[in-house]
Amino acid sequence: MRELVNKLLARPAIPISLVLILLLGTSSVIFYVERTLSEIEEALPITLSKQERDVRVLVGDMGTLVQSIGIARTNQAPGNFSIVLRQIDDIKLYLEVIRENYKFNDVLGVSAIHAKLNPAIFDINNWLTKGLYNFEPTSAQTLKMAELRAKEAHQEAEILLLKVGKTAIDVLTAQADRIDAFRNIMILTLAVLTIMTVGLVMLGFRLQKSVLALKDSEEQIRYRANYDSLTDLPNRLNFVEHLTEAVSRNRRNPGHTVLMFIDLDRFKTINDTLGHDFGDELIRQVAARISNVIRETDVVSRLGGDEFTVLLPDMTDEIHASIIAKNILASLAEPFMLYGHEVYSSASIGITICPDDGKDANTLLKNADMAMYEAKDQGRNTFRFFTSQMTDRARHFLELDKDMRRALAQNELEVHFQPIYELGNHALIGVEALLRWQHPKKGLILPAEFIPVAEETGLIEEIGLWVLRQACSEAVPWLKQDLHTNFYLAVNISMRQFKGGFDKKQMELILAETGFPADKLLLEITESLLMDDDRRVKDVLAEFRRIGIRLAVDDFGTGYSALSYLREFPVNTLKIDRSFIRDIGVSSSHRRLVEAIITMAHGLELMTIAEGVETSEQDSLLSEVGCDMVQGFYYCKPVSANVIKDLTAIRKPRLVLLDPKNKSTSI
Ligand code: C2E
Ligand code: MG
Ligand code: MG
Repeated sequence: MRELVNKLLARPAIPISLVLILLLGTSSVIFYVERTLSEIEEALPITLSKQERDVRVLVGDMGTLVQSIGIARTNQAPGNFSIVLRQIDDIKLYLEVIRENYKFNDVLGVSAIHAKLNPAIFDINNWLTKGLYNFEPTSAQTLKMAELRAKEAHQEAEILLLKVGKTAIDVLTAQADRIDAFRNIMILTLAVLTIMTVGLVMLGFRLQKSVLALKDSEEQIRYRANYDSLTDLPNRLNFVEHLTEAVSRNRRNPGHTVLMFIDLDRFKTINDTLGHDFGDELIRQVAARISNVIRETDVVSRLGGDEFTVLLPDMTDEIHASIIAKNILASLAEPFMLYGHEVYSSASIGITICPDDGKDANTLLKNADMAMYEAKDQGRNTFRFFTSQMTDRARHFLELDKDMRRALAQNELEVHFQPIYELGNHALIGVEALLRWQHPKKGLILPAEFIPVAEETGLIEEIGLWVLRQACSEAVPWLKQDLHTNFYLAVNISMRQFKGGFDKKQMELILAETGFPADKLLLEITESLLMDDDRRVKDVLAEFRRIGIRLAVDDFGTGYSALSYLREFPVNTLKIDRSFIRDIGVSSSHRRLVEAIITMAHGLELMTIAEGVETSEQDSLLSEVGCDMVQGFYYCKPVSANVIKDLTAIRKPRLVLLDPKNKSTSI
């Protein structure tokens, strides 16, 4: 970045040298004009006026001479002759002076004056001499000749005077033109200089602005590289630097450096259901609350998403770390106001202590992350210190993933089915396919244990397709039996499957392979899938509906249900979550809540299924509030396909009840 600034600063080298050349050029012009003007001022007008004056004197003298000769001719007194002779001498003398002074100044015709008048004077002199000393026939005659010659000479002198005057005017006009031209040059130069000055000033401002903008963006880039844009807290990179520094300080000066890894509980649900703006606002407020709880010397950072870290250097013991963790949890327990909505949140915190739990930043972070997951497993909204057993859990996760891949290949997975009944007459109306894993060593593993891992690793995409194919092919024969006309097969589809590319093509392939009719299939999807912004998911769901497949929202009421989504999506059924049904007989408010959900669903022309019905009281209460269908241990546990086959063989299936003592299924 610095280089860029320097480059930009270096770039004006060309305009600056150009400006220098122009300035130099302009000043030379000014200097030249100035010098020439002073030359004109000093030399020409003075010389001209002096010459003109000299010529004028001469013309005057010549005129006087003409008069004097005329007087001498009419009155030939000796005094008059001597006046004429003196005047001639004066003129001669003056002519000599002019010749001396102006002999080189041909251009003004002064030498011409001399050249013309001198012979004339000589001539006049001649005539006078002749007239006066009687060399000629009559003195009156010669005097007349002298007078005529003098008149001629006077006229010539006048013409010369005019010439000199004209020359003076020409010269002055030429000089005036030159001055005019110079003035124009000066005006032009001045204009160019003004434009250049304005341009330079503007360029200067512009340059200043760009340099400031660059500096600003350089700072911003540096800031963005180190700080999180949403919360302005140090980001992962910055935090790792702090942590590494603290770890090496710890090495030199042994003490305890504590690292906390904080992850919000169920943040994804808030983000998925209320929208990203709410999610962002929550993150901002959480950042502020954590920052308020810790000391100035501690460092809080946002690693990304809903993950924060806190670095507490120089902690004396674990007790202090747990007090701070408790304070953070307490500060997050207060409700958050997000754009006028009250939202509750909590967090799970994992804690590692340097050097016991790790001697470098990466190990400390990894272990704190693991401890955080332990806190989540312990019911969330709590904190856990890292222990070496936690690494065992991570190992378990990896083993489970490996085992699941083997299970899929070696047919250890099977599909069980749980019947769904119409509430009024308890007629079997459908079955829900539920995955089971018969582990060769560990025995039966329930989906709650392995499906989250499969979702995390992505294996659910393969498993999900397997369940769909298996369930469809097992259910096809049941359709041929004389069953309820609306009998359907429900299959759970994970969000990850949709994200992974599960679509109409794959679906039609399975339906074609198994011969299962699309209109007998009900896909159970989660509320969060409906809230997802992904256009593709919406399109796939719409395509499924077009080929006759029905859709149910599973575990309805556990997400932040934005009911408006139900209208937007082609959903047919709501499966009311077990948690609502469990408490329906306990409090009237729960009963009213279930009733409200059912009324709302019916208003939207949706069918309702109550999940997890376990008692006859729940059964009758659900009947009272108008629920359409039921599913639960009270009627039948999930059973293998063989049991369902027997059930469907009976034209009017009876209620399958659980034996309350051993909870085994009795038909
Ligand atoms: P779910 O889809 O809500 O399925 C209902 C779960 O409630 C089943 O648990 C079922 O055994 C249990 N249940 C039914 N009636 C009662 C009752 O009266 N009391 C109690 N306490 N539980 C009852 P299961 O089979 O362990 O499955 C758990 C969850 O795992 C399912 O919840 C579903 O979300 C997921 N799952 C199961 N099979 C699949 C599958 O093939 N694909 C996907 N993606 N998820 C599956
Ligand atoms: Mg389900
Ligand atoms: Mg459910």
